[in-house]
Amino acid sequence: MRQIKRIFVHCTAGSQQQTIDDLKAEFRRKGWSNPGYHYVVTPNGGTHQLLAIEEVSNGVQGYNSTAINVAYMGGIDKDGKPVDNRTPEQKDALTLLLHKLKQMFPEAKIMGHRDIWGTDKSKWKKMCPCFNAIEEYKDIAS
Ligand SMILES: [Zn+2]
Repeated sequence: MRQIKRIFVHCTAGSQQQTIDDLKAEFRRKGWSNPGYHYVVTPNGGTHQLLAIEEVSNGVQGYNSTAINVAYMGGIDKDGKPVDNRTPEQKDALTLLLHKLKQMFPEAKIMGHRDIWGTDKSKWKKMCPCFNAIEEYKDIAS
């Protein structure tokens, strides 16, 4: 098993109506051999595993070899602007998933994609996942 240092939380930065198959097709169009995320949580609270955790997904450039990437479907409004539009079901499923992963990898830090650029918003290259994941998940213990 590879060493896991970080569990990154993402949004898919697409429509909440997208299906898992749409998302996979998008990754293929980008020419990625592996998906962007290990897990994707849909608005109905469904948790879909796209890749075994032994494999490396394509979530945060430069950090993927030691990371697990999870995403919720959504994260943009109708004008394409960043928004936290997680449904209650999505929030619950995400929290449950992160609890499980933290049990498997107690040393791993749970953080949002944007947190890799620090706390200064002007340094963020993306808003992903459009909420403060460090704050929201700080109480998830192994
Ligand atoms: Zn992201």
